[in-house]
Amino acid sequence: MKHYSKLLQRLAVIVVVSAGFYVALVQYFSRQEVWQTENRAAFFASTIDDALRRLWHLPFVISQNEAVVEALQNGNGSALSPRLREFALSADADHIFLMDLTGNTIAASNFGTADSFIGNSYMFRPYFRDAVLGGTGQFFAIGATTGEPGYFVSAPVRDNAGGIIGVIVVKTGLDSLSRAWQNSGERILVSNPDTVVLLASDNVDQFRTLQPLTDPARQSLEKAQQFGDQPLLPLDWQVGGNGRVTLDGAEYLLAEAQIKQQDWTVYLLSDLTGIRLRAGLVIAGVLAALFGVIIAITGFRSARLREALWKSDADRVRLTREIEVRRAAESDLKVAKDGLERASRLAALGQLSASITHELGQPISAMRNYLTAEEIATDAPPNSLNPQLSGLVDRMQNINNQLRFFATPGVEDSRVFDLRRANDAAAELVAHGMSATNVTLIRHYAQGAVHVAGNQQRIEQVLVNLLRNAIDAVSGQALRQITVEVDCSDRRAFVRVTDTGTGLEGRSMDNLQEPFMTTKSSGVGMGLGLAISAQIAKDMNGTIEAQDARHSGAEFTLWLPLSEEHQ
Ligand code: ADP
Repeated sequence: MKHYSKLLQRLAVIVVVSAGFYVALVQYFSRQEVWQTENRAAFFASTIDDALRRLWHLPFVISQNEAVVEALQNGNGSALSPRLREFALSADADHIFLMDLTGNTIAASNFGTADSFIGNSYMFRPYFRDAVLGGTGQFFAIGATTGEPGYFVSAPVRDNAGGIIGVIVVKTGLDSLSRAWQNSGERILVSNPDTVVLLASDNVDQFRTLQPLTDPARQSLEKAQQFGDQPLLPLDWQVGGNGRVTLDGAEYLLAEAQIKQQDWTVYLLSDLTGIRLRAGLVIAGVLAALFGVIIAITGFRSARLREALWKSDADRVRLTREIEVRRAAESDLKVAKDGLERASRLAALGQLSASITHELGQPISAMRNYLTAEEIATDAPPNSLNPQLSGLVDRMQNINNQLRFFATPGVEDSRVFDLRRANDAAAELVAHGMSATNVTLIRHYAQGAVHVAGNQQRIEQVLVNLLRNAIDAVSGQALRQITVEVDCSDRRAFVRVTDTGTGLEGRSMDNLQEPFMTTKSSGVGMGLGLAISAQIAKDMNGTIEAQDARHSGAEFTLWLPLSEEHQ
């Protein structure tokens, strides 16, 4: 999930950056395009200007012709009309016609046609008024007779005295220009100051307006009949920022140029699709390159990561091994330290016990002697005179015996003996206690002798202790059973004492062998038995293990090395 959100974040960043980049590129290409289109618009403007200028001198030249002056002076242009047609053909003009001062056309190059101008008056046209006043008239209009749009240029015709006697007019349709634009594939509009589109690469744009006409403007146009009965409806034209324009809902890049003489404006509209496509292609290229680089880097990184992981794996294994070794060493050290502490405590206890047993031994013996002497004197049976007192003496004697046992230094009397016999001897020693508490002893002995080397007496001491503890543990139980198994396993001899007693309640041998750790009441136990037993086992390169028995009760195992004879 986290991984995906990170991926999405990165994708979002790429999309945002690409979009920003795309916009910047479109703007950059647009600026470039604007610069180019402005140049092209200026070029178109100059083409139109040239085409119009070419006509300017034509009326003046024709006005100088004698035949023209004569026709006006005679008031008859029928002879002139064919000449005017020749002029028109050679000058590549649509029509040439001559008007007298009333505006009446007396000669025209289109004489004899249905649309002939002869007999028509065009005095309402500005070009007529301009020429009559001695100037040169220029006017773009839809022909009042032909209905064809064209550019009218006029000049006054003067007589020899210089007086104005008429007006000569040359009309040229500019279709050839707009046809050329259609082929250029660009959208071009040429508008007059009233924003009426005079020329357009697309016919549908012609005689539409870029802005709705004001009423005075519409009235003046109607007066000059400039655009015939064209409704002059506004185009859907909106100029935006950044040199953009929207025409009929499509966005274009806009470039303008002026045709100063005419006060016309050329609008060149460039399609944005090409620019957008170019920007899109650049982005696609850059993204493809970027992805290539990312894939290469990722591959390189993951290779390095794999290498690093492999290395760190090796380091981890090495470290884990080191830690394990260190832990093992620490635990060994702790065991050794605990052992040492216990051994030194036991040694101190041994010294203490030696002096206590020595000091107490004498008075206890004296008390027993006094009691026995009294019994002898009164002829009473043993322990009958003062049973409480003799019981207390027994108890004191018992404690002292335990302490003495503890104080006894190990006798270096080592020989090979059968562990089964040592256990028999120990069982013999506790037989009284067993029968007193009604305990059943079960022996599972190995078939053959189980030979160990060491001090048999000391081992018996350990086994007595284990059996006594077992008897104590089962004494309150319904099932009072002690099982002793003597055998060897894994090249070691063992004696396993299992009882049906209270169990160890999870306590380990380490806890149990702590000196003075006892759950027994005062006088019954001193908590030294297992401490001494463990010490004896250790002296003979053996151990004692303790655990709760499988069903109930406890299980103590004394392990000793098998003697060489046995093997
Ligand atoms: P003591 O017998 O004087 O208490 P030990 O060192 O022999 O001293 O035993 C220490 C303690 O271990 C006992 O007090 C007893 O709580 C526990 N223990 C020893 N053997 C057994 C056993 N067979 N079942 C249950 N608890 C035992």
